[in-house]
Amino acid sequence: MLNFEVTIAGDDAYRVSWRLSGTEFAADTQVEILRSPSFTGPYETILPPSRDITDFVDTMVHHRVRPFYQIRIHRQGSDPVTYPSVSGVTVAPEQDGDIRAVIRERIRAIRHGGGRKILYYPVKTSGPKCHCWDKVSRKAEVHNCRSCFGSHFHGGFYNPILLHAAIGSPNTQFSERFRVDGQVSSAILPNLPLIRQGDVIIEKENKRWRVLGNDPGEYKRNIVRQTVYLAPISVDDILFELPADFTLLGSDAAAVDGP
Ligand SMILES: [Zn+2]
Repeated sequence: MLNFEVTIAGDDAYRVSWRLSGTEFAADTQVEILRSPSFTGPYETILPPSRDITDFVDTMVHHRVRPFYQIRIHRQGSDPVTYPSVSGVTVAPEQDGDIRAVIRERIRAIRHGGGRKILYYPVKTSGPKCHCWDKVSRKAEVHNCRSCFGSHFHGGFYNPILLHAAIGSPNTQFSERFRVDGQVSSAILPNLPLIRQGDVIIEKENKRWRVLGNDPGEYKRNIVRQTVYLAPISVDDILFELPADFTLLGSDAAAVDGP
């Protein structure tokens, strides 16, 4: 087995660390690291096959890109073995027990303080472009494209993630802050996954929200919860055609929302 972890190492820096054990370990083992802005690739080598190192800090990530990593193990006399990153969307920061306790406490507060299950759709901001995108004019040829829902990247969104969120009442001050007509609400969510502008949240009653921004709450420089600002999506918006499995939101069973 290869233990392989990607953690936040600073602003726009990620630390890729691994531990070789059992069959992977040999004196001639070399480790190569590859990165892609998309889970499906293509991946490019950012660290050529190297010996005797156990971690690598990647500082070359553009700040709007969620990186995906692969580790490739090279040994003499056998084919290289490639391990993909466990999850492309979630990058867990390193945490000591103290920080984990704060995060658990915040998650409990969300669940018991008006939280409910929601479907969270991370918008694609990298990877192959949708067919609606014209490379020459650098704009979409098709309005209200059903293949990318306006994101202009192939598929539009990653698969939805089930989370708990405490969605608050509309607030005029938020609307002024984001200069949006109509009422903006806020929602409290767990520390992960990191929620970004353009992501979509869907509630059980098919109420849909677009994320306008995020004010993450920090403790010892770790994000322990997120306050996101949500604009309602109107029923004539193409985002109302984003498929949603409401059976996932029906019961009160635990949602996947943190440690
Ligand atoms: Zn499209």
